[in-house]
Amino acid sequence: MVVERIKFLREELNKLGYNYYVLDNPLVSDFEYDKLFSELKELEAEHPELITPDSPTQRVGGISTGFEEVKHKYRLYSLDNTYSYDELRKWYERVEKECGNNVKLVCELKIDGLAIALTYHDGFFVKGATRGDGIIGEEITQNLKTIKAIPLKLFEKADIEVRGEIYMPKTSFEKLNEENLKNGEKPFANPRNAAAGSLRQLDSTITAKRDLSMFTYTAIVEKADYMPESHWESLQYIKKLGFKTNPNIRLVDNIEGAIDFCKEWETKRFDLDYATDGVVIKVDSLACQGEMGFTARAPKWATAFKFPPEEISTKLLKIETGVGKTGAVTPVAVLEPVLLAGSTVSRASLHNFDEIKRLDIRVGDRVLIKKAAEIIPKVIKVVETPEHDNLPVYIPPQTCPECDSPLITREGEVNLYCSNENCPSVIKAKLEYWVSKEAMDIDFIGPSVIEQLYSLNLVKSPVDFYKLTIEDFLKLELVKDKSASNMYNSIQESKSRPLSRFVTALSIRHVGKETADIIINEFPSIEALQNASVEELSNIEGIGEKIAKSVYEYFHNTQNIEMLKEFETLGFNFEHNAPVKTNELEGKTFVLTGTLSSMTRDEAGDRIKMMGGKVSSSVSKKTSYVVAGENPGSKLDKAQNLGVIILNEDEFLKLINPKV
Ligand code: NAD
Repeated sequence: MVVERIKFLREELNKLGYNYYVLDNPLVSDFEYDKLFSELKELEAEHPELITPDSPTQRVGGISTGFEEVKHKYRLYSLDNTYSYDELRKWYERVEKECGNNVKLVCELKIDGLAIALTYHDGFFVKGATRGDGIIGEEITQNLKTIKAIPLKLFEKADIEVRGEIYMPKTSFEKLNEENLKNGEKPFANPRNAAAGSLRQLDSTITAKRDLSMFTYTAIVEKADYMPESHWESLQYIKKLGFKTNPNIRLVDNIEGAIDFCKEWETKRFDLDYATDGVVIKVDSLACQGEMGFTARAPKWATAFKFPPEEISTKLLKIETGVGKTGAVTPVAVLEPVLLAGSTVSRASLHNFDEIKRLDIRVGDRVLIKKAAEIIPKVIKVVETPEHDNLPVYIPPQTCPECDSPLITREGEVNLYCSNENCPSVIKAKLEYWVSKEAMDIDFIGPSVIEQLYSLNLVKSPVDFYKLTIEDFLKLELVKDKSASNMYNSIQESKSRPLSRFVTALSIRHVGKETADIIINEFPSIEALQNASVEELSNIEGIGEKIAKSVYEYFHNTQNIEMLKEFETLGFNFEHNAPVKTNELEGKTFVLTGTLSSMTRDEAGDRIKMMGGKVSSSVSKKTSYVVAGENPGSKLDKAQNLGVIILNEDEFLKLINPKV
């Protein structure tokens, strides 16, 4: 039984490794690979007699073909890794056993790229090679010379070998994939594969066209004027020699300091323009490193903490379709539940029907899903399996899943739309948007309450919300006196929202919150909007013809005109209250980052705009203030670099309300 399982794991890992290292085409997520790998490691630890030299646990990486092979002067190892903080603490116990107490550690981001070794003689770059299997790599000196971050001559003379990671910035990766798609070529699965594919081009002019860079993280100094004694010192030294090192490093006193670093970067990494899959933790003292040595494939003095997976494969059980507030019918993947980046995922976005066709996604396939920060998971590709070809090709629906009306396409758009203007799904989606934070911000009313109000014929249009009585709410399932009056009050209270929120809530096609703000500034009442021509609307800066037409049509549609009259009768304020400008905020541009404790970022933005200031999403030299709340993102770093004034929450509150 064990023998068979070991055999299975080795074959599986070898197959996955070949696809990953040689073909640059991973079949599963790293998390799944690592799970199989640690199972094999555990079984081999229990049965050491079954270890063979060709087991994936005994070797590093893989070797590709096409380039001349070169034997490394110093072996390149892999790294042991873990997804658990307790495992990190156990590793540190072993470190302390060998090197004494309070061993200092260096924390570095684990760059998800391709490991290479560069040799310098007398300060000149002489040879560069991929890691390969750690003993033999591929000589790719010519290709490496095209990368600007690799110095051809160092600032000081030295005989030195450095190791680092070649990577492709995320933005360049996306651009490259867009081009590949346009040219009918296969897109790369992730930035790492794109970097590997670009570096292993036999024609170095192709490599030169790709945006590659390198972070250098290790140095073996053979002959130089200065010999570092710790890893930290060697990082400073190679930076001085002209290598690019990653700025996000930290020297810590013990493993708890390293764990803090890991926790910090688990979310901050999403602000970086390069992919990182974890944190590498290394013993700082080179003498200690020497004492600890290596296993067959990895140093004992270093380990990697891997971030929770952002990608994982699972089975596609069903493709459901939903209808949004614009009437667009979109496919949603129903999945066998899996744990992804800390939460269980059972549904993912499939974008549109063209995407399903492009990726040839079929019900029953294994699909790779991905979750980036704050974004709902999406299906990124089909995992190649022998079963795929036998599954039926997916055929998009021709009628609306809700009301069975025919679906139509609109010029220049890939989506399919329900042709029925009064489709119940569209109406309910618009009602849900009406109560949402971005629009009228009505608490206590969610999708299930809306579903009931709709099916009881109590609410068919947003205006009906304001005609509801407390008794009406008591007709809903599980609603008692207290929640009925909460719902009622919350709806009534929303009547006082500013006009731009009201216009946002109307769900006019192509008009979101920002656009509504712009339009209301120029046409500050419903009457003005009703009298505006398409030409006048499209003369507003930032408003194109498409939006102008859509606004015009909305305010000239009889059904909408009737509804607006009803809102007016109900006492809604149809005039825009011009911002109360103070000298302090006029002409000032703010950027908000992090979480504020006294208000949401949207509310802070509204306050700034009400006082005549502007809110921007990116920091530049022209930014007047960056308001930094708890856990600010990279915008804070940028503000510091550019010397922009940074306000904490208290300072900001004083500025917008000088009496505080
Ligand atoms: P690894 O990538 O997990 O770790 C070792 C490598 O980390 C080093 O060789 C180096 O290239 C890199 N690294 C990045 N930043 C570093 C830093 N600051 N300091 C030191 N090293 C740094 O190990 P590996 O042997 O290259 O690959 C094994 C991993 O590859 C597996 O854990 C798995 O996640 C992935 N893999 C995935 C598949 C798949 O099918 N998805 C298949 C094979 C391997």
